[in-house]
Amino acid sequence: MKKRAGIDREVTAKWRPQTRLVRGGTMRSEHGETSEAIFVTSGFSYDTAESAEARFDGREDGYTYSRQTNPTVTMFEERMALIEGAEVGKATATGMAAMTTALLAGLKAGDHVVGGRALFGSCRYLMDTLLPQFGIETTVVDGRDTEAWARAVRPNTRVFFFETPANPTLDIVDIRAIADIAHAHDIRVIVDNVFATPLLQKPLELGADIVCYSATKHIDGQGRCLGGMILCDRAFHDDYLYPFHRHTGPMLAPFEAWVLLKSLETLELRVTKMCENAAVVADHLAERLPGVRYPGRTDFDQHELAMRQMTLGGSVVTMELPGGRDSAFRLMNALEIIDISNNIGDARTIITHPATTTHKAVEPADQREMGITPGMLRLSVGLEDARDLIADLDQAIEAAGG
Ligand SMILES: *Cc1c(COP(=O)(O)O)cnc(C)c1O
Repeated sequence: MKKRAGIDREVTAKWRPQTRLVRGGTMRSEHGETSEAIFVTSGFSYDTAESAEARFDGREDGYTYSRQTNPTVTMFEERMALIEGAEVGKATATGMAAMTTALLAGLKAGDHVVGGRALFGSCRYLMDTLLPQFGIETTVVDGRDTEAWARAVRPNTRVFFFETPANPTLDIVDIRAIADIAHAHDIRVIVDNVFATPLLQKPLELGADIVCYSATKHIDGQGRCLGGMILCDRAFHDDYLYPFHRHTGPMLAPFEAWVLLKSLETLELRVTKMCENAAVVADHLAERLPGVRYPGRTDFDQHELAMRQMTLGGSVVTMELPGGRDSAFRLMNALEIIDISNNIGDARTIITHPATTTHKAVEPADQREMGITPGMLRLSVGLEDARDLIADLDQAIEAAGG
């Protein structure tokens, strides 16, 4: 690995965000390849036994085993850390591996975690089922209610964990206010920033300690692979994250890291266009249906806070069909362009019925409390021409009975 300009923080720190997205983290081999190389190898060899010993001791730089580090994965980690403004990034095979690792690495039995109640279905499972199985107490609160976070603090509270905007309700959590409460009690703040992407919202600048992503969403954004990322400071990485990650093995594979590296080059272009499309589609839907929610619209109940934390309204719009589940299903089944699927942040526009799919595992009472109703639909707006999306939605609304 010769030219290391993309990985020299003194150099890259001067670059503007778009340059970091294209070039950050790039390491070139002796061949001088323009595109990043894919190192499809599980292990690495050493010139001498002394060198092997020195690398295992950490006295010599270099790779030992791809469960821990791999050059292609390092490039993705470094590029993400640069974009986020974090000291370190650690890649994982999926977004859920990132969330689970970020939580478990720094917790032990007897600790207490407070979570926002509007969470991705599998994150709710971590809070409601997995952490309690290991003797970690959890409380879920209405993330929008800043006072509720303060009231939930106990002497053993170690972590606040939330998404904003939350999936699928788009509830906004005031990152700065929650971080202030947390830090007064020595509590670590972990933010799942998937819906906002690294471009629209900077949780670390607002006081968060750790930011996690499902790279499966906007970062790949083309429906090809799964991935995750944990961004944090050097101390958390060295003391908790790296040992947990290397010994439990949620590592991202080199090929996926390469796909995600290439995706970052176009992230800004894609996310900006998706947000533009989402705003146009949301405005149109709001003329036809009640209960359309989009953080970029002035009628969104937390619009002011959303726009204080995010530069754009995001790519997800939700709507509420007055006829409940039956009319929601009729609308979905009548769509000709928009796919029925459960991803978000994809180039293709996707519609989801959260109550029966992504959030099916959440108890019906908890679904209602979170604001997931039988008539709710989540629309992840993609990169098609917004006029075609609107025409497709219009004819499907007609078919669903208006
Ligand atoms: C998709 C998603 C996850 C999980 O990511 P995977 O890559 O599917 O494991 C976590 N949080 C949010 C908000 C998500 O949208």
